[in-house]
Amino acid sequence: MNKVLAVYAAQESLSRGRRYKEPPSVYRGEYQRDRDRIIHSTAFRRLMYKTQVFVNHEGDLYRTRLTHSLEVAQIGRTVAVALQLNEALTEAICLAHDLGHTPFGHAGQDTLNACMRDYGGFEHNLQSLRVVDVLEAKYADFPGLNLMFETREGILKHCSQRNARDLGDVGERFIERKQPGLEAQLANIADAIAYNNHDVDDGYRAGLLSLDQLRRQSLFGDRLELVQARYPGLDDRRLIYEVIRRMIGSVVSDLIEETRRRLVEAAPRSIDEVRNAGKPLVAMSDAMFEQHSALKKFLHKHLYSHEKKLAMTREVQAMVKDLFAAYMADAGLMPDEFAEAARGLDGAGRARVVADFIAGMTDRYAITAHESIAG
Ligand code: MG
Repeated sequence: MNKVLAVYAAQESLSRGRRYKEPPSVYRGEYQRDRDRIIHSTAFRRLMYKTQVFVNHEGDLYRTRLTHSLEVAQIGRTVAVALQLNEALTEAICLAHDLGHTPFGHAGQDTLNACMRDYGGFEHNLQSLRVVDVLEAKYADFPGLNLMFETREGILKHCSQRNARDLGDVGERFIERKQPGLEAQLANIADAIAYNNHDVDDGYRAGLLSLDQLRRQSLFGDRLELVQARYPGLDDRRLIYEVIRRMIGSVVSDLIEETRRRLVEAAPRSIDEVRNAGKPLVAMSDAMFEQHSALKKFLHKHLYSHEKKLAMTREVQAMVKDLFAAYMADAGLMPDEFAEAARGLDGAGRARVVADFIAGMTDRYAITAHESIAG
């Protein structure tokens, strides 16, 4: 925990607080409590068996949503401490940012969204907020985890104007076109830094990306040259790690320096001045952003759209579609709590319960559920 917070960091004493009032904790700060509630949530444990890029059963060593979220938090905390931001809040947002993700990664999310087209759609980021606000049933006094406003603000990264109007306090900034606090801005970028780097590692391990391809990406290639000059003949596995470590180090250092520069320039004196700054203040330099974006585009083209991944995607799409159709036709196929919630509902009401159920599934749960409806 940081000893001294900058004036532009989120401060508990100035927080917009929780939706349901609660007595303070004796030993923990409020954002620490949020982090702890997230770690103890059911949705957090399920991240262990949810796809990041590679479907869980493809191998034990690939990132899952859980290890991805931990890497995001790791990067976020380092930067938060360096900039005197609120470390516990940053960690809470990072750990919660993917709680609403469906099984099977983006293929699962896109398919569920298509199934929900006539019923208000499905968006994993919105679902993360729904998980902490509504779906986690852990407390007798209120629904959800009753997190602090700033944590919820950070979880809701983006949102359409239509949805913003239905979301109350956390939706306001999208209507007023304001920025979120710095910890939220940071968590968002830490997410991108984490996946850009770990997907290079996983893609290489899977044999879908080669050193020759990666060499042509300047973020990777420049550091590869340095490592090869210093350690000639180093085996490929260590070589990749040495390069990725340097990539993360360079991007994170650049992020800290550029953000410091922007903070000096904008000189916000409070989180509200950060919200009104007109642009994000946590950012990479233009040069680094360009390299980082180029790598992201490269991964889209050569990893996320790789033929081997697309074959898996088609399987997953069919599975999610079948599950959705089966539960819409017969809500009694879902476990009691969901069947009960869907009772007497049709159309959009029933579809939302079905989407909540499917989105909560782990990869392997979805595969088993699909076998049982097909059988
Ligand atoms: Mg993520």
